[in-house]
Amino acid sequence: MEEKTTTPSHFIRTIIREDKKNGKNDGRVHTRFPPEPNGYLHIGHAKSICLNFGMAEEFDGKCNLRFDDTNPEKEEVEYVESIKEDVRWLGFDWEDREYYASDYFEQLYEFAIELIKKGKAYVDHLTPDQIRKYRGTLTEPGKNSPYRDRTVEENLELFEKMRNGDFGEGECVLRAKIDMASPNINMRDPALYRIKKAHHHRTGDKWVIYPMYDFAHALSDAIEHITHSLCTLEFEDHRPLYDWCVENVSAPSRPVQIEFARLNLSYTVLSKRKLLQLVREKYVDGWDDPRMPTISGFRRRGYTPESVRDFSERIGVAKKDSIVDLSLLEFCLREDLNKRAERRMAVLRPLKVVIENYPEGQTEELDAVNNPEDDSMGMRKVPFSREIYIERTDFMEDPPKKFFRLYPGNEVRLRYAYFITCTDVVKDENGEIIELRCTYDPASRGGNSPDGRKVRGTIHWVSVPHAVDAEVRLYDNLFKKPDPDDVDEGRTFLDNINPNSLEVVNTKAEPAIGEVQAGDNFQFERMGYFVADKKEHTSGKPVFNRSVTLRDTWAKISKK
Ligand code: ATP
Ligand code: MG
Repeated sequence: MEEKTTTPSHFIRTIIREDKKNGKNDGRVHTRFPPEPNGYLHIGHAKSICLNFGMAEEFDGKCNLRFDDTNPEKEEVEYVESIKEDVRWLGFDWEDREYYASDYFEQLYEFAIELIKKGKAYVDHLTPDQIRKYRGTLTEPGKNSPYRDRTVEENLELFEKMRNGDFGEGECVLRAKIDMASPNINMRDPALYRIKKAHHHRTGDKWVIYPMYDFAHALSDAIEHITHSLCTLEFEDHRPLYDWCVENVSAPSRPVQIEFARLNLSYTVLSKRKLLQLVREKYVDGWDDPRMPTISGFRRRGYTPESVRDFSERIGVAKKDSIVDLSLLEFCLREDLNKRAERRMAVLRPLKVVIENYPEGQTEELDAVNNPEDDSMGMRKVPFSREIYIERTDFMEDPPKKFFRLYPGNEVRLRYAYFITCTDVVKDENGEIIELRCTYDPASRGGNSPDGRKVRGTIHWVSVPHAVDAEVRLYDNLFKKPDPDDVDEGRTFLDNINPNSLEVVNTKAEPAIGEVQAGDNFQFERMGYFVADKKEHTSGKPVFNRSVTLRDTWAKISKK
């Protein structure tokens, strides 16, 4: 059986387990993931998806996918499609429960009428500016609007006129009648409906009034019989309003909101507004640019759904905000790919080596292991010849003390091949090294020491006449600072963009690379994990993205 790392449990699991045990909601567990289709999903949303779908799975419940599309101007069909693709890719299934808040517009309107009839909502004709002034501050109570005591009949008539488009945008709103002196500003007669004469991606021009988030969200949960409505901490102060909405209409069920801390990642911005800006202003090449923290960006970068789910599990669910180190996510990817990705050899920055005592015109095939972690992945043949490429960084003419790779007079092992010794360095007129001369020991075939003599370094290589050219994209963090929003006055997160986040290198790879499919993951030995780019890789022109390096900083950090 596969070993499963045990991760700490969390308070939401405890609450749900208790509720189920006590027979609350008849023992039902029903969650939902409620994205607003105004951008692509990011890794923070992945945490929410894994939590909502994960809890439903664990407690034999259901999880709905609900598009929170109450804001007509910012929403687009493209986003709906991308969100569905991302949730599916993560491995979750909403079955036939794909819902839209906009499907409930009629029902929500009826709930609003109900509130008016109960004297709990009124049409307010204060201007937006006046409403702000009347609202008061954290230290001062608000003031009642002069329109607050309109009669039920008058309110019903005015609200219907709102719906019919008889008023202009901003002319009036429907407000809940709660308490203008409440210490919680959210309870000072919050707006429930506003006028927006905008086209909606699903309802078209049918509506000119749109429900506000708190009202629509709470009642959509109730309509769908959601039991546990999991959301991020910034909604904690909205919970009394959530409860008020559900309690003051004849809601078909009584959901409960539970807040958890949102994911923050170092070197990363997780705000759709900022991500949209990066895309629109072309700091990156689209939402799925491999440097983007979007789910589609991670997918194109070569992340696996398993690694993202593992990450979501490991970070846990807390009640207090914190910043998770990006290297934990990288650690999860390495853990996953180490077991699954086949190894190949590719030289990212090639330096030619001529093996002078190797017979000219001769080639041979050597055996290479596909994955030392998994024998069932077998072996492959790698061609060898008199001329090979090695990594430029594996040679130093004048090395420091602990450099164990190639330098004049030193012997190293070529992985799966032979021991070679550097005998000469060839330079061009500018003094640039263009070629190395070496000799090899035929008795070391397969990389085995013929007489027990030791070499300290093992390097990878690719045979020159057999090499396949590949474009390789190496990525660094998109931001220079752990907190991209850490800026001096007058500056923005854009000033923290790392100008060197992408480096493209022309790589020489072993011929087996010619056969890979777009989306396949590999480890290029010693250089990291790579994926054949989903969009641009073809067998004629291989293109690889480096998903992550092999260096494991997180393991070191966590040991401190
Ligand atoms: P952003 O602030 O990035 O624009 P949002 O909260 O407006 O995100 P929604 O589409 O409303 O985006 O989010 C859908 C769900 O995902 C919500 O339940 C929200 O709480 C959750 N979510 C959003 N960002 C994070 C995050 N960083 N960590 C955990 N959950 C998140
Ligand atoms: Mg939101």
